[in-house]
Order: sequence, then C-alpha cells, then structure tokens
Amino acid sequence: MQDILIVGAGVSGLTAGYHLSQKGMRVTVIEKEQSVGGLARSFYYGDFVFDVGPHRFHTDDADVLRFIKMILGKDVRVIPRESGVWFAGRYHDWPLRFSTVFKLPPAMSLRTARDLISKRARVGISFEDYILNMYGKTLYEEFFEIYTRKFLKHDPATIHSDWAKAGIDRAVIDRRVKMNTLFGVIKRAILPIPVATEFIYPARGGIDIFSKRMAEEIEKNGGRVLLGSSVSGIRAGKKEIEEVTCDTGEAFRPDLLIWTAPINILCQLMDIEEPALKYLSALLYNVMIEGEPPLGYQWCYYGQEEIVFNRISIPLNFSPATAPEGKTGINLEVTCMEGDRVWNDPGKLLDKVKEDMVKVGLVHGPGAILDVRVEKIINVYPIYELDYLSPVTRILNHLSYMHNILLLGRTGTFWYNNMDHSIRAGMDCAEDVIRSERGGLRAMYKRHDFFNS
Ligand SMILES: Cc1cc2nc3c(=O)[nH]c(=O)nc-3n(C[C@H](O)[C@H](O)[C@H](O)COP(=O)(O)OP(=O)(O)OC[C@H]3O[C@@H](n4cnc5c(N)ncnc54)[C@H](O)[C@@H]3O)c2cc1C
Repeated sequence: MQDILIVGAGVSGLTAGYHLSQKGMRVTVIEKEQSVGGLARSFYYGDFVFDVGPHRFHTDDADVLRFIKMILGKDVRVIPRESGVWFAGRYHDWPLRFSTVFKLPPAMSLRTARDLISKRARVGISFEDYILNMYGKTLYEEFFEIYTRKFLKHDPATIHSDWAKAGIDRAVIDRRVKMNTLFGVIKRAILPIPVATEFIYPARGGIDIFSKRMAEEIEKNGGRVLLGSSVSGIRAGKKEIEEVTCDTGEAFRPDLLIWTAPINILCQLMDIEEPALKYLSALLYNVMIEGEPPLGYQWCYYGQEEIVFNRISIPLNFSPATAPEGKTGINLEVTCMEGDRVWNDPGKLLDKVKEDMVKVGLVHGPGAILDVRVEKIINVYPIYELDYLSPVTRILNHLSYMHNILLLGRTGTFWYNNMDHSIRAGMDCAEDVIRSERGGLRAMYKRHDFFNS
C-alpha cells in the first residue's frame, strides 16, 4: 500500500484521490480553502447558491460521463444550453447565429459579409492571427479584440492562439455545432443541422456537490481530506520529494506527491527558478435580487469596455434549487490581477456594477437588489502568453529527475481546461499509479496532454 499525498481538493485531485483510495491506497488530500471543489466550488448564502461563474458538465468522453453520473447518482439534472452575448446594444444568442449578422448595424453587417468573401489566411501563432483567420476583421475589431483586452488585460497580439482554441472553441462547447468560424455560422444557416447541446448540473446544491461526494467517498475509504491546510514547505533530495509540511504544522513523508495547486507555488517551495507564468484572478459579485430571472440565458458575455463585468451567470437557469422562491441570484465576473487596484478594493466598483446592471437590463433599478456578496478567486485563468510553453517545459524538465511527484489539473499544469479534462487527467493519473505499483513508484512522469491540444 502506498501513501499518497494530494495537494488541492479540486476536481482533478479528488478524482485521483477517489480512484486511488478505492484501490486501497492511503490518500491524504490537503486543501487551503475551507471547502472542497477548487475552481468548481460553490458559495451558499442562506438559500442562495452561487458557483464560480457558470459551471456545468459537458463531455464527449464516455468514461468521464459515466463517472460524473455515478458520483451524482440520482441528483443528475440535464439542461439545454441557453447562452448569450450583449453586443451592439442588444442581446444575441451565443454561439452566434446567421441571423445575428442581420441584427448588427447595417454597415457592420456589410463589412462582416465582405470579410467572409475577401478572407486571406494570416500566418502566425497569436490569438489575433487565429481570430482574424476564423472570424474576419470586423468581428475581431468590434468584439473579440475588445473583449480579450478587457478580459485578459493583455494585447491579443501577445497571447498565444492556444488561448483562442481553448477559450472560444470551448465557449461554443458542442463540437457538432461547428459555429466557431464566420463560415461555420453561414454554412449552418444554409444547411441547418439541429443540434441541442445539453449539460449536466446537480439537482441539489451547486456544482460543488460533485466534489463533496468524492471527498466523502475518500474518507469512507479511510483517506483524509484536510481543509484549511496550505502547503508551506517542501524538502526535496536529488531524486525525490522527502517531506511536505503544512501551515498547520503537520508534516508528511509520502511515497507519491500529486500536485494540483498552481505550478508557480511549487516552484517557489522547491527553489526552482521563478517562471514567467501568470494567472489571472477574478472578483465575483454575487447579487441577490427580488423577482424572476431577467434573462433566459444561463450565462451571457459583455465585451464592451464601458460595462464593468465580463460575463454574468444566473444559477436559477441551471437549477431551481439555487434560489429561494420569488428571488434570483446573478453572478457577475470581473477579472483582475492579484494585488492590483481592483483586487485590493472590490467595494470601490460596487456602484458601477449596480449601475451597469441597470444599463443592460439585469435590474430595473438598484432598489431591486437585496444583497451583494463579493468573493475573491485567485489563479483563475492561466495566461497563455506567446512563449508560455517554454517555462512550462523547463519546469517539467527540472522535475523529471524526481521519481515521486506528479503534476495534475488546471493550475497544476498551467492548462486552460474544463472539469471533464481535469476528471480525465485524474482518472488517468490514478490508473498510472496503480499500474506502476507492481513495479514500485519508479519512472513517474508528468502526464499532460496540453502539448497536443
Ligand atoms: C469562471 C469559470 C467557469 C468555468 N466553467 C466551467 C464549466 O462550465 N464547465 C467545466 O467543465 N469547467 C468549467 N470551468 C473550469 C473548471 O473550473 C476547472 O477545469 C476545474 O475546476 C479545475 O479543477 P482542478 O482540480 O484541475 O484545479 P483547481 O480547481 O484549481 O484545484 C486546485 C486546488 O488547489 C488548492 N490549492 C492552491 N494552493 C494550495 C496550497 N498551497 N495548499 C493546498 N491547496 C492549495 C486550490 O484551493 C484548489 O482547490 C470554469 C472555470 C472558471 C474559472
């Protein structure tokens, strides 16, 4: 039997812990927050439930789907996707429909149509190159460029095209729809193939129910899930991790360390040269209002600079179990960098948040707002700068001499991913560990598929 220490009780760490504890391994999970779920955790204020932005399960992977359904049991709720974008002063469905082009101001519609006809391929690896090739100049300049600057706080020309592939293609979500190009939008309008995208959401509580159930199972299998425990020290020899210490004073000497917390924290703790890897953080304004949801969308994007939030989501449109009768929660996301002006003083934006909610029709007036709770979420998005793969590769090379450490998950491998990817990675990681047990924990490697994505 092996002693496995997992840092981080997000979906990747818990999935790995669940499978390893099922096989009789001694699993300890350390989590710095007071609750499990990581980025897929939830906030409960009385009968209101909020997630970290919109969170729902969607996967093409049959094993992952089976696992999600098994963990949620009878609490599986299947919902059709309804999402939108606020653009040119009105709401449009997202992914864009052909009819969207005709709802744009006429000059913009014409320019958009002309882009399609005169499209010329650009060579390059940046986000800007990718979007110009996919959507054309007009939509790039009118929407994607502004949205990306606002969201990422970076010039799209300095961001790697992997960000677009992961982010926009994922916002489109259902690969069968093939709406992620202007040509795709038009093709679909001419040859419409009805595709209904469905999501899974827990029938009770928030998205964190999935993680809570896995944590319960790990404990039933004899494992431990330690909340409010942050890793504060790592002692490493030439070839192995010898000891891991927590801010609670507890120390561990694991046979294997599975690391799912941010990769730059690992570097600091192991004295690996600080890599130039940055994560974007976010503030969540969880607003509780009187009355029914103002929109039928589960989530909606706001690209305009003058609107302070990037995206909103309405938990009630995921599940009726997320708000008390006659009331609605609206979650508004504002991205920022840890330690910047916005991060340090979120209260300063509150009036502007309320004002913009009125501007885009989310509330009739500030009087409809019952309460607002602000949550600070750190290390939310890895920022894929043009050269982001070089520092990641350097870190992996450095760690490749260690035989008992594995990196896993979104922040642990600097991977702009979704829950299903983290679940798959957790399952694969557990399988590799179980397989390698027969021959001891040698030749452990950092399994990750983002180089192929
Ligand atoms: C706004 C938003 C919306 C999203 N929507 C969806 C969606 O609809 N569908 C979907 O599938 N995915 C969605 N995702 C992505 C999804 O949240 C992630 O893919 C997934 O939660 C990542 O899980 P993880 O375990 O890999 O990483 P994380 O959740 O980042 O887990 C890492 C854990 O390590 C902990 N940790 C950090 N430092 C320490 C330390 N020093 N000591 C101990 N613990 C530490 C953290 O607290 C965290 O719990 C969304 C993400 C965001 C941000």
